[in-house]
Amino acid sequence: MFEIALWNTKTRRKETFVPLDSTNVRMYACGPTVYDRAHIGNARSAVVFDLLFRLLRRRYEPDCVTYVRNITDIDDKINARAAELQAGGDRRPAVELIREITNRTIDWYHKDLGALRVLKPTHEPRATKYVPQMVSLIKTLMEKGHAYESHGHVLFSVASYPGYGSLARRSIDEMKARARVEVAPYKKQALDFVLWKPSGLDQPGWSSPWGWGRPGWHIECSAMSLELLGKTFDIHAGGIDLAFPHHENEAAQSMCAHPSEEFARVWMHNGFLQVKGEKMAKSLGNFFTVKDLLDQGLRGEVLRFVLLSKQYRQRLDWTSRNVMKAEALLRRWWSQVMDAPRSEANAEHSKAQPDEVDAEFLDALADDLNTPRAIARMHELSTAGDVTALNAAMKLMALDREVRPIYFLQIGDLQRVWEEARKQKDYVKSDFIREQMSEAGVLLSPSPGRGFRLTHAYDPVKLLRIPSAVEAKFGEYPGEKPTE
Ligand code: AMP
Ligand code: ZN
Repeated sequence: MFEIALWNTKTRRKETFVPLDSTNVRMYACGPTVYDRAHIGNARSAVVFDLLFRLLRRRYEPDCVTYVRNITDIDDKINARAAELQAGGDRRPAVELIREITNRTIDWYHKDLGALRVLKPTHEPRATKYVPQMVSLIKTLMEKGHAYESHGHVLFSVASYPGYGSLARRSIDEMKARARVEVAPYKKQALDFVLWKPSGLDQPGWSSPWGWGRPGWHIECSAMSLELLGKTFDIHAGGIDLAFPHHENEAAQSMCAHPSEEFARVWMHNGFLQVKGEKMAKSLGNFFTVKDLLDQGLRGEVLRFVLLSKQYRQRLDWTSRNVMKAEALLRRWWSQVMDAPRSEANAEHSKAQPDEVDAEFLDALADDLNTPRAIARMHELSTAGDVTALNAAMKLMALDREVRPIYFLQIGDLQRVWEEARKQKDYVKSDFIREQMSEAGVLLSPSPGRGFRLTHAYDPVKLLRIPSAVEAKFGEYPGEKPTE
């Protein structure tokens, strides 16, 4: 059995990973604030920690890994987005707009991550569903003297916790400078941060011992991880910008509420995605959304490959050259795997069983997710013609080309539904399906049987949307809905 080593931000060391309980390895990653489409930089942490999730599932049993990636659906950025819509003339109440914005953004997020081959985490808690747990945690902090109420706000008192700054390893002055903390009249000290704040009647809010209000961002993650993973768990992950103040504050809250516990044992942080040396950011305007890139015809696996081409702690520059290189390489590997004769000769040539992963490749991944070394090993396997091992490595990284057969199944299924509609003499429906398929570049043969022809306009994504279009128009689609 192989050993996993992970760089721990808390100790600034690479450590052998030993879970508290190998039958329930627990990890938490901070997920998105859902007010807008994800850019490819936002997706980096989802992809990197998906790879870790896959590796842990291989090292332990898949059922023995619990992965929580939350959704922040209470946040002032979301409220601000609703206010913008209202300023633009939308008359609906803020709460209704917010529900629409968050639901739609979550839907986009799932689609984007699905294309990037990111697995669903075990739990994906939405902050709005855990407010009672947040209130209860805040009460505990007040009872223990770590929080105070002031002007309708509840604040965490940094002075009450000598361990504050242990994750960031900075002095109070340095932290003040780094956090660009807001000085507010209701704070005793500048670094004190909000646990609960008052809401206007037209803003999302919940009743609490401190009046109608909403939780601060940091307490959301402390409460959700406590509920789903317990007081101490194995790994806490997120982007490097979250290390301070978000993770420092989460740790302070959780450790003050449960002083005899460790909270997260290993803290992992991914580096930024950059464009021309600058952080990709909405505010700088130098970003591409995942959808932009997919709409350009790039496959999700190609984007995933670029995101994994550097070790996760390093900065990664997004360039069209890197994208093109990744695409060319993946296509070469895919055709190498597809063209390989499925003969015994090839099985003999490979040192690996179909499901067995090459030891050197696995060693590289287990070494703090050293993906550049893992990819270098894939090059060697490709050069050596060890197609079985190359394919197994691509599968573990979720870079294999698995989607295509589904499209063809999809064509067969649509064809059945089309033939059935014709048999029923429902020509409105059968014509609709034929036209939609033709627009997606699939020409059905009018003669009975299974014939179809792909034209140069063949577009698998359009094809996948047809069942939903049929359902929307005719109330039902009597076939299999595509899974991807
Ligand atoms: P934001 O929308 O900027 O608040 O970012 C949301 C999440 O995406 C945070 O967890 C950040 O760590 C992460 N993130 C934002 N920009 C980048 C980037 N350029 N590279 C990597 N992660 C990023
Ligand atoms: Zn968090």
